[in-house]
Amino acid sequence: MDTKLTDATDIAATLLDRFGPRSVLTDPADTLRYRRDWHGDVEGSAVAVLRPGDTAEASAMVRFCAEHGLAVVPQGGNTGLVLGALPTSARGHVVVSMERMNRIRGIDAADFSAVVEAGCVLAAIKEAGEAEDLFFPLSLGAEGSCQIGGNISTNAGGINVLRYGMTREMILGLEVVLADGTVWNGLSTLRKNNSGLDLKQLFIGAEGTLGLVTAAAIRLVPKPSRVETAFLALADRNDVMALYALARRECCDLLSAFELVPPEGMMLAKEADPTLALPTIAAAPAYALIDVSATGSLDLKPLVERFFELAMERGYVTDGVLAASEAQAADLWQIRDGMNEGQAKRGVHLRTDLSVPPSKVAAFIEEGMQEMALRLPDCLPVAYGHVGDGNIHFNVLPPAGIPREERDAKLALAKKVLNAIVDRYHGGISAEHGIGRLKRDDFAARRSPVQQEILAGIKALLDPRDLFNPGCQIASPRDGTDVTVF
Ligand SMILES: Cc1cc2nc3c(=O)[nH]c(=O)nc-3n(C[C@H](O)[C@H](O)[C@H](O)COP(=O)(O)OP(=O)(O)OC[C@H]3O[C@@H](n4cnc5c(N)ncnc54)[C@H](O)[C@@H]3O)c2cc1C
Repeated sequence: MDTKLTDATDIAATLLDRFGPRSVLTDPADTLRYRRDWHGDVEGSAVAVLRPGDTAEASAMVRFCAEHGLAVVPQGGNTGLVLGALPTSARGHVVVSMERMNRIRGIDAADFSAVVEAGCVLAAIKEAGEAEDLFFPLSLGAEGSCQIGGNISTNAGGINVLRYGMTREMILGLEVVLADGTVWNGLSTLRKNNSGLDLKQLFIGAEGTLGLVTAAAIRLVPKPSRVETAFLALADRNDVMALYALARRECCDLLSAFELVPPEGMMLAKEADPTLALPTIAAAPAYALIDVSATGSLDLKPLVERFFELAMERGYVTDGVLAASEAQAADLWQIRDGMNEGQAKRGVHLRTDLSVPPSKVAAFIEEGMQEMALRLPDCLPVAYGHVGDGNIHFNVLPPAGIPREERDAKLALAKKVLNAIVDRYHGGISAEHGIGRLKRDDFAARRSPVQQEILAGIKALLDPRDLFNPGCQIASPRDGTDVTVF
């Protein structure tokens, strides 16, 4: 560490002196929630947690870190699932939490845009948009905690990607603090701007490795006035993509979500919340949870009913429930969200975020299931997700109570087997969660030398001293070793 302050206590005291107790946390009890991942599986270490209140303070903090050679680990809501926001050294790392920078700087209904600070919680942005009859289409299970800065830095996906695209497509401009503390103000709300390279794209999906995002100009759309939610029982899981294609064609391209839910998902959601009302529907090998939405006066019901009739006629679907109220629709979506909580409650398990071409989804799941049944018959595989985008979370839950080494060996084998199938289908190992620290070896094994060279060149240009989130996405000697995995 090239800091002039030689020890962690000196650094913490200097930070406190410079920025004050509202902006700096140093007590390990106060910093714990910033040092643990969302599942509570991994605990990291940091010399301090910095909480800037505005862009000027964020810039001063980054400048201080640069002067003292401290690594900066940007953090939003800490809901990321790949350890991207995890500090790893009690000597040389600070977390910069954006939670106090949570102001909506403005909403422009005429421009269908807003400017928001990076620490705005996603749900708060959606609510503020709705108050103006506008909609911010990014929707994901963690939206009550994750922040727009984290969404941008992971290029988050979620349930509406098939209609509105990933976060990248919803961002018009960014404000970023660079590695020496300089502020780049790129907060344009222009829809079209081909004046040279689009610099904001460098920071979207960078997982905090190139700069600290402090604010964003975002694209809004008219708020859908009608949403129809259906939960359908499939005759055969292999028909899921045929059903998806039918939905896209029959619903006039107004399909906004199409999720595959396995029967185990219902069980896990009920485990997470025993009061959850499950729909009365025939038992099936798989279910599809579908939203169709529109603005204006278009009547969606006949469209959705016609699609349902056709799906029955073609034998894709055996039964279905069309939500009769917003509350029933919310209950159906709670199954999808509850699945995640149910898995978390089961303890350490393999979580994947894989993608294959949509046409290969059914074959991929079938092959994965067969391999798991053959090699890991005592584990519970749960394959679900945003299959309309070819995105499958193929998770594997080990049997309860087995020794840790045995559990880890089973999960390592499951990952190896699934990644090999993904590679055969020319798929991706991270569809939307990013690389973080968890997937960097898998990422390294799949990068071409040319890709590696370009990435290294961009990092060297923007962060030559590797101060921003070292060890995230790409291995770094600055990534500390004092991390406890439990
Ligand atoms: C229940 C649940 C459901 C989820 N569902 C989805 C889903 O459907 N789709 C999906 O894509 N993800 C999903 N996720 C993952 C997660 O919510 C997203 O990755 C989210 O975008 C992370 O936002 P965050 O604010 O929590 O970021 P954090 O976890 O705090 O950080 C994530 C990364 O971004 C960096 N970062 C954070 N803020 C900044 C900033 N201001 N400037 C620079 N870098 C920054 C961090 O260093 C880290 O590398 C889910 C997670 C949970 C727990």
